Amino acid sequence: MKEIQHYIREINDFPKKGVVYKDISPLLGNIEAMRLAVDKLIANLPHQNIDKVVGIESRGFFLATLLADRLNAGFVPIRKPGKLPYKTYQQKYDLEYGHDQLEIHQDAIQMGEKVLIHDDVLATGGTAEAAVKLVNRFDAAIVQLNFIIEIPFLNGREKIKKQQVFVLQD
Ligand code: 5GP
Repeated sequence: MKEIQHYIREINDFPKKGVVYKDISPLLGNIEAMRLAVDKLIANLPHQNIDKVVGIESRGFFLATLLADRLNAGFVPIRKPGKLPYKTYQQKYDLEYGHDQLEIHQDAIQMGEKVLIHDDVLATGGTAEAAVKLVNRFDAAIVQLNFIIEIPFLNGREKIKKQQVFVLQD
């Protein structure tokens, strides 16, 4: 079995000129690699007593649902504005130009539940920080944030430095 890194390809100038985009499609297309990724993410949790796995739209959903299954936990989506049908909590966050917003259903997590947050990529950390703020609305315990890839020079960990973080490529 090859390393996870082998299944991540870099696409130059996507979605705009100058950006080197990490594309996880080869990983998603290989079930052995996906299982290896899930195994490693599970093995690097501080414990497996997790009530909810929160996945961030949209590429966070893929592995988050597999993680939830393995952990016998519920899955909770954090989504872009206007996608969730029930009452939501909302959190704005800054982008390079302008800002965006993430939302979570107000009944998605119970007070005191143990939560794992998953996304595919940690870049500037703005998305992850917004997700942490949303989960903290519930007075829940965030056990870890995990990611497949990190883009270290963007220093995303700084924004979530109070959290326990694991990245597959570590
Ligand atoms: P951040 O908020 O940390 O700057 O960006 C992270 C979010 O943007 C994640 O939800 C992630 O899916 C997406 N993202 C940013 N850069 C990349 C990239 O190079 N590849 C992929 N697949 N997603 C990215």
